[in-house]
Amino acid sequence: MSLKDQEFLYSVFRKEIKDRKIPLSLGKTCPVKCTFCYEMDHTYRKTFETPLTTQEHWDFIFKEIRSFPTRDSESWILGGNEYMEWTDLALHPKAMDWIEEFLEKTDKKITMFSVGYFDPERINRLAEKYPGRINFELSVITLGSYREQLMPKGPSVKQVLAVLDGPAVTSANFYSFGSGSMSEDAKKISDINKDCLLWMGCLTPLKYIDADTTKVMRQGKRFLPGEARKIYDMNLPNVQMIHTESDITAFLNRNKIIKTFDACELEKKDWIVMAGNVHRILTLFRRGRARFLYVPNDTLGGDSNCTTLLTFDDVAKRITNQRVIHLP
Ligand code: SF4
Repeated sequence: MSLKDQEFLYSVFRKEIKDRKIPLSLGKTCPVKCTFCYEMDHTYRKTFETPLTTQEHWDFIFKEIRSFPTRDSESWILGGNEYMEWTDLALHPKAMDWIEEFLEKTDKKITMFSVGYFDPERINRLAEKYPGRINFELSVITLGSYREQLMPKGPSVKQVLAVLDGPAVTSANFYSFGSGSMSEDAKKISDINKDCLLWMGCLTPLKYIDADTTKVMRQGKRFLPGEARKIYDMNLPNVQMIHTESDITAFLNRNKIIKTFDACELEKKDWIVMAGNVHRILTLFRRGRARFLYVPNDTLGGDSNCTTLLTFDDVAKRITNQRVIHLP
C-alpha cells in the first residue's frame, strides 16, 4: 500500500474513531450473506473500500482510541461503521484478541453486534472478567424453520445457543416470520438466558430484498400481534422490547406529532413534507390545516414508509411547483 493510500485509509479510520467506532474491516462484503441484509445497498451513505485490518492497522486504531478520554456514558461500537461497509466483524480472525486487548488496556466500554460467530467460551469468559464493560447485541434473527432460508451461511442454532449460555449477551434480537416463530424463539432464549433483553419485532422489506424474503417478512408482520400476545402470556422474566412498525410508532406518538405540527403555526397553503406514517396521522387529526405532501421512501423502497428515513433525494423527486416546503 502506498503512503498516500495508507494516509487515506487512516483518515477513514479517524472519522470512524471520532464517532466512537472501532473500525475493523473484513476487506470484503459480508460473507454471511443474510437475505434480509440492509447493507446490500448502501448508496444512501458514502462508504470507502477498506482492506482486511492488519496488525499494523490495529496498532494505529488502538493508539487513536486510547487517546480519547473515557466517558461513563460512552461505549465503543464494533460492527456498525459509518464510512465503511457493515459486516460481521466477529469473523475477523483477530477480532477476539483485539477485543481482549481493548478490555485489558483501557477502561472503556464496548458494544458489539454479531450474528454469533464469537467463540462462546471466550466471549462469556471475557464478560465475567470485565463485568459491565461489554454490551453484546446478538442478532439471533430466528432459530426456527426460516433460518436456513434467511441465513444460509449463518452460524448454527447450536452455536447461537452456546453464545447465549452465559453473561456475554446483553440483548438478543429476533423477529416474527410466521406462527410460532418469534414466540418460540423467545421461550428458547429465555430458558437459556434470563438476563438478556429480548428485542423483537418485524423486518421491513426494502426494494432490493428478494421476493421470497419479502414474502416471509410480510407474513411475519401479519403474525406479529399473535406472536406478541403469546409472549406476553408466557410471562417471561427477561426485559422485553417490541420494535413496533413505523405506522404504529407514529400512532403511539400522535400527540407529539400533532403538538409539533401545531407549534410550527403553518398556514393552510404551506407545504409540509412527510412519508406515509406521519401523513396518516396529520390527515386524520389536522386535515386541511396545511398542504401535506406525501413523499414515498423511494431510496429505500419496498414497504418502507417512515418519515424519519426520507432522504433529500426522495423529497427532490416529489417536488413539482412548490417554491417553499417545510421538512419536519
Ligand atoms: S451478518 Fe449482518 S452484515 Fe452480514 S450479511 Fe448478515 S445482516 Fe448483513
